[in-house]
Amino acid sequence: MSTAATFFGQQVLNRVSFLRCSKEFIKKSLNHDSTVFIPFIEGEALISPENGDLVQLSKSTNSSTKILSTIIPLYTTLLNTTRSRSDESGINLTFLGLLENTDSTFNFELSSNSYKGTPYFGLDIRVSESTLFKSADFEPIFSFPKMTRDHIFKQTNKDASLYSQGRMYLDWLAKYKFCPGCGSKLFPVDAGTKLQCSNENKGVHCNVRDANVNNVCFPRTDPTVIIAMTNSDYSKCCLARSKKRHGNFVLYSTIAGFMEPSETIEEACTREIWEETGISCKDIDIVRSQPWPYPCSLMIGCLGIVKFNGQNEIINLNHDDELLDAQWFDTIEIIQALDKYTGGFRVPFKNDINLPGSTTIAFQLIKHVCEKHKRLHSTSASHL
Ligand SMILES: [Zn+2]
Repeated sequence: MSTAATFFGQQVLNRVSFLRCSKEFIKKSLNHDSTVFIPFIEGEALISPENGDLVQLSKSTNSSTKILSTIIPLYTTLLNTTRSRSDESGINLTFLGLLENTDSTFNFELSSNSYKGTPYFGLDIRVSESTLFKSADFEPIFSFPKMTRDHIFKQTNKDASLYSQGRMYLDWLAKYKFCPGCGSKLFPVDAGTKLQCSNENKGVHCNVRDANVNNVCFPRTDPTVIIAMTNSDYSKCCLARSKKRHGNFVLYSTIAGFMEPSETIEEACTREIWEETGISCKDIDIVRSQPWPYPCSLMIGCLGIVKFNGQNEIINLNHDDELLDAQWFDTIEIIQALDKYTGGFRVPFKNDINLPGSTTIAFQLIKHVCEKHKRLHSTSASHL
């Protein structure tokens, strides 16, 4: 298992999740001089017109004066009430964590422990005619360009990871507006990391409000398995071309699919491999994972080792209709392509085929097969 941070997966902040329920902590962190807000509009982050970076606001940035001096203090008075809902206020807010080892003077004491760092929040602007805050309140950033997928992969992993965390929480807050138990309005509590049913009528049963344990008030993470398939000596690697278009080029990559309820990661891989390629693969290793904020996936990267016996490795695309093609490639050819790769969204492979670029877990898994092959090759060579 690699400990190197995957793109979107760098834990930049100490999330201090146990402090989210402290109103005192949230009020203090929202209004501290050093606090940083990452603004989103309708769920998408913004790009600085000056340098193309992810926009982050603090009291030291000129464009944020009104937001930090007027809007945030007013929103602080609405916390934990239905008036804080974005339908009424025009914003959603979520606490992301503390950036430690900065020169921030922020400090919060709890149970003889001291928590220091720069507080970070995600701020989603969803204004309309009827909301408390209006679009003019957020100028000039309201006119900034939105972060596209092309732009996000040009950001540093630190900023992309902050973006990923904020985007996942804010997307969830914007979509879950009504209680699945009774249909009442939901409103955010615990600094926008939990939703609460507003139904106070005890005579009306709500199986969400009244349950001891439920999972519908918290943000979801959807596990997805993504698998690089190889054989016992790593000399082959199966890659597939999806029917979904990936730009104007031919892309061969690892296969992937959502996990289903009550399925182990290993069984989900075996099922996905067979459904999509017809290949029989029972030997699965979990390698590494990557958060994927479109909208809330966790990609669980695995290696599937297929025991070639004339049957297991035969490709049959006729079960599921997802793939245009799948092929067993020689790992040595992939190694040669990766050796020439100098960065970018795609790796030129052979003919007109491309492989995914280094910000993806698919690339990391393909590279993992190559490294396994190289290691085995150098070990067997040393025994000669
Ligand atoms: Zn309810």
